[in-house]
Amino acid sequence: MELIRIQRYLSEQGLASRREAAAWITAGYVSLNGQKVTDTGAKMVLGVDTLKIDKPARYAPKYYFLFNKPLGIVTVNAQKGEREIKDLVKLPKGVVPVGRLDKDTGGLIFLTNDGVVARRIMDPVFYHEKEYEVTLYKPISDKALLNLEQGVYILGQKTRPAKTKRLGGYKFLLTITEGKNRQVRRMCEAVGCPVRLLLRKRILNFHLGELKPGQLKELSNNEKTVLF
Ligand code: URA
Repeated sequence: MELIRIQRYLSEQGLASRREAAAWITAGYVSLNGQKVTDTGAKMVLGVDTLKIDKPARYAPKYYFLFNKPLGIVTVNAQKGEREIKDLVKLPKGVVPVGRLDKDTGGLIFLTNDGVVARRIMDPVFYHEKEYEVTLYKPISDKALLNLEQGVYILGQKTRPAKTKRLGGYKFLLTITEGKNRQVRRMCEAVGCPVRLLLRKRILNFHLGELKPGQLKELSNNEKTVLF
């Protein structure tokens, strides 16, 4: 029977630093077999006792993921017969998609439980770039690409200046800095070129890269630095 101090256990599991663990215990966030523990010297029996941490959200660890949403999957709020992102991958509690991709759009979506970062990514005041690979039913002219760059009217407003890069007759990259409902599809329709396939390739400087549809990747500490 191995007895270990709860404080030490929490820090050895990487759940908190020694100091944080002590603070959680004295604050009453930790319970052992259903009983609150407030003595920082309290011990538990490994593999026998049940430890529960019930700390306020501000202490919850923050997670940041990139996910390649497959076509045909809704971002959230699946209706009967539909599947949403959280049906495909196991996510820590509270981790949700940042913004939406249409059911018929694939590609990169950011997921986090950090509300501050989520709001910052979505807020158009920051002009964060989102890059889409657009495939059309018919070839697009240089003039239409220029129109997209300069802004077109959708939902009664002119879109912000955008960037385009031709990849072929039917295919191009479109980079926008706002996120109106079905923005890319509406923009393309506004220049007479309905979208056949839409894939998001990049959000800020996070690239879809080698991530396969349905694959989830947690950001490394290094990658996270750009978010703060
Ligand atoms: N623009 C669209 O039209 N759809 C998306 O899913 C994302 C951007």
